[in-house]
Amino acid sequence: MSWESTVLYYQIVNEVVRKERGGLHSAKILLYSVDFAEIEQCQATGDWEKSAAILSEAARNLQKGGADFIVICTNTMHKVAPQIQANINIPIIHIAEATANELLQHKVQKVALLGTKYTMTQDFYKDKLIAMGIEVLIPNEQEIEAVNDIIYDELCLGTVSEPSKRKYLAIMERLASQGAQGVILGCTEIGLLIHQEDTSLPVFDTTRIHAEKAAMFAMK
Ligand code: GLU
Repeated sequence: MSWESTVLYYQIVNEVVRKERGGLHSAKILLYSVDFAEIEQCQATGDWEKSAAILSEAARNLQKGGADFIVICTNTMHKVAPQIQANINIPIIHIAEATANELLQHKVQKVALLGTKYTMTQDFYKDKLIAMGIEVLIPNEQEIEAVNDIIYDELCLGTVSEPSKRKYLAIMERLASQGAQGVILGCTEIGLLIHQEDTSLPVFDTTRIHAEKAAMFAMK
């Protein structure tokens, strides 16, 4: 969620399977697409328990449908990953752990994190990175608001704008000047706005990292 990034997941997973297996091979996927407005309402009112219940129910249904593992296609909702995991017997591939592994492979020890205000300011996501020895830099208060608003008011609605791109790049540059060796696009829609060609700072797109990891995991 939003579906703007679900499309990317679907595409990337299938591209990886085609690349690895060739021919007409494609991924066997059970996709449970939620109504993001319901989830966003839970986020805005701080009702994480309700969102955990909605997503746990979805995960239980996927398990019942035969899924071998779960991929939650958003960074933010990993806040309730422990509650979802408690409701199922199949594993969840954690987006922050997959990203931390990728950072370490590229020897990045100090990283800038862009995402929703929940992802940037709360501990559930950063703690996974810190636990793997990675130092995390987040934007200042004003920048956090701007980054968050662009996600919900534009990217989740499929709007990609040049001024927003410039704003993101300026924030990334400022965090690089504070020592960030790379930037995590820690929201699954940011890849719609920012690409590696836009900056000399190494970009770690969580959508791509997570989807590629899921495809490889499935094939193994
Ligand atoms: N897709 C975004 C993320 O990765 C934000 C939308 C959401 O709150 O799930 O965090």
